This record gives sequence, C-alpha cells and structure tokens, in this order.
Amino acid sequence: MACENTTDYDYRFVDSDTGLQDAISEIKQKIAERIALLAVDCEGNSLSREGALTIITAATEEKVYIFDVQKLGQATFSSGLGEILEDESRKKLMFDCRQDSDALWHQFKVKLSGVLDVQLLEVIYRRENPSASTTNTAQSPSKDKRRGRDRNRRSQRTDEIERIYGFGRCIELYLQDEKLVKIKDKGKELLKEDDELWTKRPLTDELIQYCVVDTMAMFRLYNKMKDVNGGEQARLRVASDKYVDLYRGKTERSFDEYETNAYLPLDIIPDKGTLDFPAANTVCTCCHRQFPHEEFSKTQLRKGEQKCRVCKEIKRLEDIQQNRQDQWERNAREEEEYVYFPEGMSDYAWFWGYEPWENPNDRSYSWY
Ligand SMILES: [Zn+2]
Repeated sequence: MACENTTDYDYRFVDSDTGLQDAISEIKQKIAERIALLAVDCEGNSLSREGALTIITAATEEKVYIFDVQKLGQATFSSGLGEILEDESRKKLMFDCRQDSDALWHQFKVKLSGVLDVQLLEVIYRRENPSASTTNTAQSPSKDKRRGRDRNRRSQRTDEIERIYGFGRCIELYLQDEKLVKIKDKGKELLKEDDELWTKRPLTDELIQYCVVDTMAMFRLYNKMKDVNGGEQARLRVASDKYVDLYRGKTERSFDEYETNAYLPLDIIPDKGTLDFPAANTVCTCCHRQFPHEEFSKTQLRKGEQKCRVCKEIKRLEDIQQNRQDQWERNAREEEEYVYFPEGMSDYAWFWGYEPWENPNDRSYSWY
C-alpha cells in the first residue's frame, strides 16, 4: 500500500512481501544513520500468548510502519524485524510491554529485549514530580501515622502501592494535545463497539491513525520525562527488563485480577539509587510472584495464605465489590416481593400464601 499522510506524520501500511522488504531496509537504514530510538506497539484481539496479535507498529520519530501480522504471519518477523526487536542494544520505546512481549514470544518466538517502558518511566517521573499529575491517587507517605518497628516490615507499607496509568490518561495529563486525545478516543469508541476490529481488513483509517498516534505519543512522552532527576535510564532499563518478562516468563497465566490490574507490580522498579531487588524466597498465593519473607504478615504466613501488598488491595476491592453485589441482590429481592405483591391481595394471603377461599384443606371452594 502506498505512503499516505492522514495525520501530521508519515506512515506506511505494510501487507505484502515486497512492502515488507522495503520497509525493513528503510528502518535499518534510518537506525544505521544515527542512534535512533524506535517506538513499538502491538495490537490484536485480547492480545496475549492466547489472543491474536494482528498488527505491529514500529516507528522512528519521522515515520511510522504498520505491519499486518495477520496477513504476513511469521514472515513479518523473519524479514529482519524480529532481529531488531530482539536486539538488546537497539532501544525500543513501548507502553506497557507485558502483553506484547507475551504474545511475541509464545506465538512467534520473538524474545523482545532492549525495551524502555514509558508506563514505568511515568511512575518514576510522577514520584519525582507529584504535582505533575493532579489526580495522583497514591497516598502520601506522610499520611501514615504508623511508626516504629512494624512500619519497617514491608507488609505494613500498604501506602506504598502505586497505580499505573493507561496510555490515554498519560497523553491527557502530559501532552495536552486535543488532536491526539480525539484520535485515541475515537479508536477506543470503535473498539468498544466491535472488539474484533483489529482482525478486520482493510484496517479502517481511524485505526491506522490510532497506531500512528500511539507510537508518536510515546516519543513525546519519553522526551518530556526522560531527564527526570538528572536521568534515570539505568533504573528504567532494569525495570523494563523485568516488566518485559513478567507475563512472558510465566509457565501458566491466570488472566485474573491478581495478574492484570491497575497497580504497579511490586519490585519492578528498583529503589532509588539501586539497580537490583531484595532477595525473594516466598511466593504470594495470589499473583504467584516471589518476594522477601517480610512482604507478608506473620498471621498470613502461618495460615499459608500470604498475599503481597498489591494482591491484598485487589482482594479488598473484590470484597467491597462482592458486598455491594450481595446488597444489590438483597435489595432486588425485596423489591421484587414488593413489586409482585398482587393488587387486592389480603393480609391473610400475604401471611399464609393463599386466600382463605383457597384453603388447600377446605375443598368446599374447589371447583372440581
Ligand atoms: Zn501478590
């Protein structure tokens, strides 16, 4: 398909073998000319090792390449793109690489490496600039009144769990670009109406623009945040390496709330001034990740029900949801009894379940 320019950016949709060869040599030439970053994003239907990966977008700051993986299959990667994705020294910007990495490895044997995850960079940036995000939901540590011995135990530091933000939210918060938000919202709206949209061809113009916006916004977010605290690239690299393997490295995936939720998993971003994590030897019974022993409360350890702080929060939210549901059902039942109370029914019937003339023991009212 020809080069087109529907947004401010140049893009190319690649769905033929010759197009593929051209695109890969163009990308290789661009990255050989200078040390350039790539932005990478996968799309599909329930993207993961199990759902379909139908589109992969790889972009330089000048041009966006959208590859039709559904049509080209494994050739998309054997053309040279796989090599670029696996090259540790070729840095790739991604936004939440977890599902993309899981799908690429388990379906195409492409082991993604050299990722700089912008979702994690945003967390680092937010910690340093709390005012940057007006809707910061993380509680301030100063609010915590607990002090002393227990406060040092990891399991007590429940105020330290953090939310991760979606891409759309980051664009709104940090780029304040109406046009990007509009394109993103339109795409989301269409995908809500039809979740098979990434598998349909030809790919609609709205979705093409969505791909373009996703990769271009990654460059803009990265450029805005990369110099946080005088440069945190090393810490971001370590964090992204861990993130890229979080789902991919699992023997089995649960696809439940403990696995996919809106919190930053623990021990993904190393503590400030460090590049590693505390030794982990005890498994969380919900997310099945290993943490230091002190991550868990003594009571839970004794019962063999230990949950990490993130899983504890997920469980708490689930319980609230369940209580709400129970209450709703109780209300609905009461309402139902009220609504279906037949007009003219006597108090006698309400109490006994039948009218006096319907007395099952008194056949005199019977009409047979
Ligand atoms: Zn857990």
